[in-house]
Amino acid sequence: MVSLSWVTTGGFAILAVLCVSVFFGMRRLTSLAWLTATAVAATVQTAFLADAHEMVLSSIAVSILTPLAYICFGQSIRAALGRDEQNRWLYVAVALLTVLGIGLKLADVPFVLRTPVFQFACALALFDSLQRLMNFRERRVVENVLLAVVGCVIAIFVLRGVAYPLIFPADMAYGVLRASMLERATLLFSAVFSVLAMFLLLARIINGVIVNYRRRSECDSLTGLLNHQAFHQLGGVVSKVGGSVVFCDIDHFKTINDRFGHLAGDKALCAFADLLRASGYQAGRVGGEEFAVIVPGLSGQAAMIEADRVRKKFKDLQHAGMPPEWWISASFGIAEYGAGQTPQSAFGRADAALYQAKTAGRNRVVRSEVPAEAETEAA
Ligand code: GH3
Ligand code: MG
Ligand code: MG
Repeated sequence: MVSLSWVTTGGFAILAVLCVSVFFGMRRLTSLAWLTATAVAATVQTAFLADAHEMVLSSIAVSILTPLAYICFGQSIRAALGRDEQNRWLYVAVALLTVLGIGLKLADVPFVLRTPVFQFACALALFDSLQRLMNFRERRVVENVLLAVVGCVIAIFVLRGVAYPLIFPADMAYGVLRASMLERATLLFSAVFSVLAMFLLLARIINGVIVNYRRRSECDSLTGLLNHQAFHQLGGVVSKVGGSVVFCDIDHFKTINDRFGHLAGDKALCAFADLLRASGYQAGRVGGEEFAVIVPGLSGQAAMIEADRVRKKFKDLQHAGMPPEWWISASFGIAEYGAGQTPQSAFGRADAALYQAKTAGRNRVVRSEVPAEAETEAA
């Protein structure tokens, strides 16, 4: 029958292959690099444990690779959670315990007496991961489960370190101890929990990348507002309360570009986007210098007041790369949508109102006179 150690080795090896393939597919993420290092160290360590655990060399390899794997795991968690604090003293303590453990092995101290040093080194190495997870404020289900699993692995190491010298005779050979129920059970649980912790972290990392890409696909890269597609998707959702839609267009923007260059133009676009964002409503950049905002629950009249506030603030702004006396304005068109309608049903009327604002001389807010119901009937 295949031994538990070989099954664990296989599990870690699969994880290592998985991490490497995902690593190259996902822009070489640091968290994945550390997780790959963890999986490789864990694979080699369990292979040593399975094959020749009684040889001095393999015992030393296990003593080094196990804490190392857990330190790499801590680094991977740090990178995945975006935490920057380093825990160098913990690493120094782990290294000192590891050296002490190897020294005791070379001095032929029996396994039962020297194993606490190794167990505490592993617990300490993993303590870093626990600390990082505990300090992470936005913990959700996956982070909480990971925290619990890491806690269990630490508890197993501490249990082994404390209980073995109390339970087993000091001169018991490792070969005999290895066959005991306690050793088999703790090895099984620590292997299962360790593999589980790594799979959870891998899932967390992949999920983080997907969320990040999805967010970016919905965002306009210059201003950070919703892009055209995401904004129109949002506009297609039926509203229970009704509200207003505001279309905005920066006036004579081509002239700004021509006079002051595209970089200054880009900065002005960002400044306008910041004002819309500060309003607290869902805003999108729907064209080059065209923006739109959905204001649920606000009548056309109330939306006009909000839009006029933005118009005044934008006109009063001092723009980088332009003379102090230079000002830029924007025109706004507003239309209402009723309860049970989509904001999109008002887009055409808001656009027509914006056109009126432009033809009436720009730098103003115009509200559509066409009522929301008419659009529904016509549709
Ligand atoms: P109007 O008052 O009638 O809106 O005039 P306008 O000049 O603002 O409108 P027009 O449609 O003639 O020109 C829009 C300009 O916006 C042309 C284009 O170069 C510029 N533009 C579009 N996207 C960007 C961008 O991402 N950055 C910069 N700097 N300029 C952009
Ligand atoms: Mg314009
Ligand atoms: Mg335009």
